[in-house]
Amino acid sequence: MLNTSKEMETNNVKAFGAENRDASLKQMKIQRREPSANDIEIDILYCGVCHSDLHTVRNDWGGSIYPAVPGHEIVGRITKIGNSVSKFKVGDLAAVGCMVDSCGQCSSCTQDLEQYCVPGFTGTYNGKDRHLGGQTFGGYSEKVVVDERFVLRVPENLDPAAAAPLLCAGITTWSPLRHWKVKKGDKVAVVGLGGLGHMAIKLAKALGAHVTLFSRSPEKEKDAKALGADAIVISTDKQQMSSVNAAFDLIIDTVPYVHDVNEYIPALNINGTIVLVGYLGPLEPMLNTVPMILGRKSVAGSVIGGIAETQEMLDFCGKHNIVSEIELIKMQDINEAYERMLKSDVRYRFVIDMESLKT
Ligand code: NAP
Ligand code: ZN
Repeated sequence: MLNTSKEMETNNVKAFGAENRDASLKQMKIQRREPSANDIEIDILYCGVCHSDLHTVRNDWGGSIYPAVPGHEIVGRITKIGNSVSKFKVGDLAAVGCMVDSCGQCSSCTQDLEQYCVPGFTGTYNGKDRHLGGQTFGGYSEKVVVDERFVLRVPENLDPAAAAPLLCAGITTWSPLRHWKVKKGDKVAVVGLGGLGHMAIKLAKALGAHVTLFSRSPEKEKDAKALGADAIVISTDKQQMSSVNAAFDLIIDTVPYVHDVNEYIPALNINGTIVLVGYLGPLEPMLNTVPMILGRKSVAGSVIGGIAETQEMLDFCGKHNIVSEIELIKMQDINEAYERMLKSDVRYRFVIDMESLKT
């Protein structure tokens, strides 16, 4: 039910956001609702920095609403719960990813696929706030209030800062690995070694796959191997590219900007799939269907993952001790972090220590 801000009690919290697409992020105040019956209030400890945050701030996809307060890799402690909350208690470590709501009734939601909610899920930021009206504000803030259906449990054995990126980079790469049923011995490749790419390597490896990285950056080879990659192919080297003909069952492409996807089709085995999770928009050059038709190959897309699948991934990471490789930054360093992300200079996820916003 949509409540208006007049009916709802709200609290002012500190946040960091951008007033328009050309502006740097700066400190601002936003409103959070007082938790209602099914809500959980979380004091944010850490928030990962996803390339989608940057796309949203700079309006790369169109449709950004300002002020934009990004952040959808949230880990924190529960400070308040509503009367009807049953799965969590005050003091629990909790997490929020890319969604804070969905219709709950459509054919996708009823199959635990809230990320494909037919009327559309509510994004943690830049979504339509169903409670207060206006846009939703993300995790670059002191607190967040979320319906318990969209709150995740973080295994206590994981470092909470390094676990934060699991909420987007982790689930976005886990979901295609599971959907395409990757198992021991399968040949998986990952395009791009950034936030998503490094999680894809770790997760595919933990599922028992043989993992290859495609990268434009030869200097990342050592890291790729340390993360679990069995091989690396420099994507700008034609000879190296032709050495992996018909080599892979699944390729996860995390590149954020338009690039030539045709270059990767020969690397797919018969029945192989390249799943695009990075770039959103028309491809240039266009896709050539010939090698797809002649090899029964698929080009697919995938967005994040459902809530149950996200919990499954977090539990798997808890069991296998998997977290992200992070560089902890202060909230005030976010603009510099974005510039480094644009230069592919992230090793391999920035995470904001939210304590820096409180001081
Ligand atoms: P990131 O940390 O910046 O990593 C992207 C990597 O891609 C870079 O490290 C670089 O790796 C490679 N790359 C960058 N620009 C490139 C270019 N122009 N051509 C070829 N390769 C390039 O970004 P991220 O946070 O992993 O996010 C990746 C993309 O996924 C973003 O577009 C983001 O919005 C999107 N995303 C999608 C979902 C979803 O649900 N589908 C969820 C989260 C994020 P090398 O140096 O190894 O080449
Ligand atoms: Zn993200």
